[in-house]
Amino acid sequence: MNYDFTRQETALFADVTKAVKEFTEDGKLDCRKNALDKKSLQPILRSLAKTPYLKLGLEPEDGLNGHLSLMGAMEVLAAASPSAYLAVEASTRLFGRAVCQWANPDQKKRLLPQLLAGEVIGALALSEANVSVENQPFVTSGKKDGSNVVINGKKQYVINAPSADWIAAAGTYDDSMALFFIEKNTPGLVVNPPLETMGYEGALIAGISLEDCQIPESQVVLPSAGQDIPAMIRMWENQMILGASLGISSAAFDAACNFAKSHKSGSKPVIAYQEIGFKLAEMLTLLQTSQLLAYRTAWTLETNPKEARELMWCAKVFCTESAEQICSQALQVMGAAGCVEGNRAQTAYRCAKYNQVTGTSTEIARVKIGDAELGYRE
Ligand SMILES: Cc1cc2nc3c(=O)[nH]c(=O)nc-3n(C[C@H](O)[C@H](O)[C@H](O)COP(=O)(O)OP(=O)(O)OC[C@H]3O[C@@H](n4cnc5c(N)ncnc54)[C@H](O)[C@@H]3O)c2cc1C
Repeated sequence: MNYDFTRQETALFADVTKAVKEFTEDGKLDCRKNALDKKSLQPILRSLAKTPYLKLGLEPEDGLNGHLSLMGAMEVLAAASPSAYLAVEASTRLFGRAVCQWANPDQKKRLLPQLLAGEVIGALALSEANVSVENQPFVTSGKKDGSNVVINGKKQYVINAPSADWIAAAGTYDDSMALFFIEKNTPGLVVNPPLETMGYEGALIAGISLEDCQIPESQVVLPSAGQDIPAMIRMWENQMILGASLGISSAAFDAACNFAKSHKSGSKPVIAYQEIGFKLAEMLTLLQTSQLLAYRTAWTLETNPKEARELMWCAKVFCTESAEQICSQALQVMGAAGCVEGNRAQTAYRCAKYNQVTGTSTEIARVKIGDAELGYRE
């Protein structure tokens, strides 16, 4: 394995930083009052569309290393603004991948170029109200009605739901798992008011209700034999969360390190005190180890996707739990300055818990790693 990023990858990371700099300065996107509605998300997507970022993981890109380049770029964007990162990723990497994977050729032709240009915003609705979708059938279901399908169900915590032009909702159809592609303003699609979350405050997250929501049958996609839609979506979510964890960890570490070098106590910068130096050393060790594991997972997704699943669960547990520790230590190092709203370490800390529960939760990831090692699951 080569541990260095190529010149092209380094250039991509610099381009991503430049593309979002004007939007993400001073942490202004990571608060509720600047929530990322369509009007404010589109310019960010359009700016990123000038770089290869949005295409990564969806289309092959010359000179870049697929998932590995993507993980590096995800870290950069998530460090700049966790909220913008989540909104961008939900649209391109969650909804976009659903389009690439399951939409019919006409839908792909219609949706993909617009999505990759930042003109269309997407969302993916997997989680159900009142039940865990981990080992429980979906309550959301569709029934055939002539050439249409009528869907009923409730979905929770859908990133971008209030701003999305299209939502892909998971459910059952004809006793099979299915994804329903629902365009905004479809009668029966009700988008609830945005939730007030802890962390990622700038991202618009809301529940949706599908109340006799009618779509043409051509907008229902069924997986091919052997495909497990929820498991595939969980992999994409976990990958998104690994990028988020690296981003918030490095943002919190940088903020704490800069503070410790410039803030003085007894005429010395506080980094000169062993208690602070040790904290920074622990944080850096966790950050470096998280990066190694996340990048190795990305590498394995390219070279041996089957093995990557277990590695992804291990990385999910380690990187998300380390991120919480790193962010917490960063606030300790920074004293009161860290607790002021807008501080990057504080923003990161608020996002850290969500990373552990969303996608495959760290409890369920541990169960899956154990089962896989014991040979209970393939
Ligand atoms: C800010 C935010 C944004 C989100 N965005 C989206 C989105 O865009 N689209 C979407 O579909 N969802 C989204 N989600 C939902 C998220 O993916 C789910 O919350 C997550 O998968 C956990 O599911 P749950 O809330 O139903 O909790 P549950 O899965 O019910 O878990 C509750 C607790 O029980 C534990 N648990 C549950 N089952 C088991 C088991 N079998 N073994 C051991 N422990 C178990 C869990 O680890 C957890 O501690 C978002 C959530 C948040 C907070």
